[in-house]
Amino acid sequence: MLHNDQLEQWDRENFFHPSTHLAEFARGNLPQRVVTGGSGCHIQDRNGNRLLDAFAGLYCVNVGYGRTEIAEAIAEQAHQLAYYHSYVGHGTEASITLAKMILDRAPDHMSKVYFGLSGSDANETNIKLVWYFNNVLGQPAKKKIISRWRGYHGSGLMTGSLTGLDLFHKKFDLPLTQVVHTEAPYYFRRRDLAQSETDFVAHCVAELEALIEREGADTIAAFIGEPALGTGGLVPPPAGYWPAIQAVLQKHDILLIADEVVTGFGRLGTMFGSEHYGIKPDIITIAKGLTSAYAPLSGSIVSDKVWTVLEQGTDQFGSIGHGWTYSAHPIGAAAGVANLKLIDDLDLIGNARDTGAYFKDALVSALGDHPNVGDIRGEGLLCAVEFVEDRADRTFFDPARAVGAKVNAALLNRRVISRAMPQGDILGFAPPFCLTREEADEVVGKLADAVKEVLS
Ligand code: PLP
Repeated sequence: MLHNDQLEQWDRENFFHPSTHLAEFARGNLPQRVVTGGSGCHIQDRNGNRLLDAFAGLYCVNVGYGRTEIAEAIAEQAHQLAYYHSYVGHGTEASITLAKMILDRAPDHMSKVYFGLSGSDANETNIKLVWYFNNVLGQPAKKKIISRWRGYHGSGLMTGSLTGLDLFHKKFDLPLTQVVHTEAPYYFRRRDLAQSETDFVAHCVAELEALIEREGADTIAAFIGEPALGTGGLVPPPAGYWPAIQAVLQKHDILLIADEVVTGFGRLGTMFGSEHYGIKPDIITIAKGLTSAYAPLSGSIVSDKVWTVLEQGTDQFGSIGHGWTYSAHPIGAAAGVANLKLIDDLDLIGNARDTGAYFKDALVSALGDHPNVGDIRGEGLLCAVEFVEDRADRTFFDPARAVGAKVNAALLNRRVISRAMPQGDILGFAPPFCLTREEADEVVGKLADAVKEVLS
């Protein structure tokens, strides 16, 4: 380990941090934290602070920090064989085993797993596969992708376009022209005040129908969506949303990509969000929870329907021209195998479901009557508290007041990490699945204090 008393200075001088106000950071006006260790739901930094991480890093350290089972699997793989590629039929025991473990857990109609490294690159793969699919089928005009406003699908060129958040488009010349956006299933924020859930779902469907009509179904290849909106606000969909959307997509022969980077492998208290909401996707994106972020690994799970056409394509056009040096990296795959096994052995999905329900109830008891809390929502261990200036007429705070960010900071002062979500005063919680009821109580108690400090 390095013990360098200049680390903070080197950080400001050399390190380009993602998703950061670069100028303020370089000037020293933003805090920095050098993280040195973690165990269970806690991390520690090099100044000796121990913090309860109620966002599991970037909602990815699902099994919690410090799992020696995964560390040992990684070490063993690195000693035995740190790398070999997976092109033209090569593989390792870890990558082949992991593909089988994923398909054993995925919906029955899924067929094969392609491995990447991040959620963004997996979604880039998915769009290429969809385009290839339609070219093989002789439908070269069917290429546009529908995404939702507030959806999050990564920050590459195509995936940043799919993402429906302003910050990811502004000054990057995005979205690209092949991407069109539709209404987000965000009942609390987007409904007319008197609108029922059923009527709001009908509105989302009508918006989608109108978009397809405008663009022409013969130009639209796929629809991509997270089973429950993640970065765009942590929003479970209203009842009936997914069946209604799927019916429209089927009618117009539009493929469905379920982006399960957050929801895959247990976050909602079920193995996949698709299972949770009765979604039948053509492609599923996985990342984060696949290895609990112990090593970078993502995947595209393709259905029988898509796979059949991919095979047909290679018979017609030769080997598929897609792949990366690090696809199915053995170290990531070994981490994935150990991680999925740990999730099963400790019934962590059961805990995500039960402790998730306990956590949400505790949030409602503590804050449900607060005049500035407009909505408390969640499923499993994915929860959000949304703040409003006025509950009765759902007036939002002026964004300049940064209420969500201030509550987030007040909670951090109490050594609990949450996440101030972009575009709204929304505080997000997505702790590791090993969260205990005592830890849930601690988060809620400190949140109530933080809210009192900022909003009284
Ligand atoms: N898809 C979803 C639903 C995500 O939440 C994220 C990241 O948060 C991504 C894709 C992109 O993943 P990555 O950051 O690994 O590229």
